[in-house]
Amino acid sequence: MFEALAEKLQNAFAKLRGNQKLTEADVDAALREVRMALLEADVNFKVVKNFIARVKERAMGENILEGLQPAHMVIKFVHEEMIATLSGTDAEGKPLTEAIPLAMASKPPTVLMLCGLQGAGKTTLAGKLAAHLKKLGRQPLLAACDLQRPAAVKQLEVVGGQVKVPVFSQTTGKTPVQVATEAVEFAKQNRLDVVILDTAGRLHVDEALMEELQAIQAQTQPDEILLVLDAMTGQDAVNVATQFNDALSVGGFVLTKVDGDARGGAAISVRAVVGKPIKLVGIGEKMDALEVFHPERMASRILG
Ligand code: GDP
Repeated sequence: MFEALAEKLQNAFAKLRGNQKLTEADVDAALREVRMALLEADVNFKVVKNFIARVKERAMGENILEGLQPAHMVIKFVHEEMIATLSGTDAEGKPLTEAIPLAMASKPPTVLMLCGLQGAGKTTLAGKLAAHLKKLGRQPLLAACDLQRPAAVKQLEVVGGQVKVPVFSQTTGKTPVQVATEAVEFAKQNRLDVVILDTAGRLHVDEALMEELQAIQAQTQPDEILLVLDAMTGQDAVNVATQFNDALSVGGFVLTKVDGDARGGAAISVRAVVGKPIKLVGIGEKMDALEVFHPERMASRILG
């Protein structure tokens, strides 16, 4: 994960560390390399620009070039700025280093709505999330609201079987909104405390998809809408995130396929561009390949 980017950043840091004393020109040269590495990793241009400007400002502002370990300090600033970019900052400008939990209803059942493009990894995530919540002592229900692809309902049933979680899949003759509503009702009656709605995707964002998702949102009032994004699609994932975020009350992102993402562009850009947090990370096809997003851990992986 992130190996292409991490290698380039490590090279830039190694050159810096080679200098006992640093000049402003040395810092500029290193930051140029960091900038190139981030752009090649498909990080959003504006995000890169701000990132580099902030590191430079701190490096010059705190007069570190006169100090004992200037290279160490520059690398430290890059690290801290990476955490801030991944997670956002508080009112005082400090990076939010804690994982941001899923929104849970005070009165069950909690409704979690998963959306995203086809192939992003929604159905897989539905299973992973159900397994994750089960481990935390919850009793989830999976709801098959993707009636676009004929095989989608079956796929969710298979996933539900793997993680031993019930699947609401009484879909014949129903609309996705009806299935979602009935699933929530079913959960109430059967004392299941989290309903995970697996919704339809398309190859591209289109109006029909958004209308269907808006209707499900309006009817079920989810506690959290999670947008599932394929990390390997880089800037495209960020554009998709912007479009979904404009149309729905997205609460956070799940980045999938991070295990196959050598570059990290989506991971680094999406929080800064769209302004919503990454909450979970998919790191494989298996049902236990899910991690809670920790900005510091992610930054350490990216920086090598
Ligand atoms: P959906 O159309 O959004 O429901 O996507 P699927 O859940 O069917 O996933 C599409 C493909 O991506 C499947 O082959 C999954 O096994 C794969 N996939 C999903 N999440 C991950 C992940 O975190 N890592 C990897 N390597 N593959 C994943």
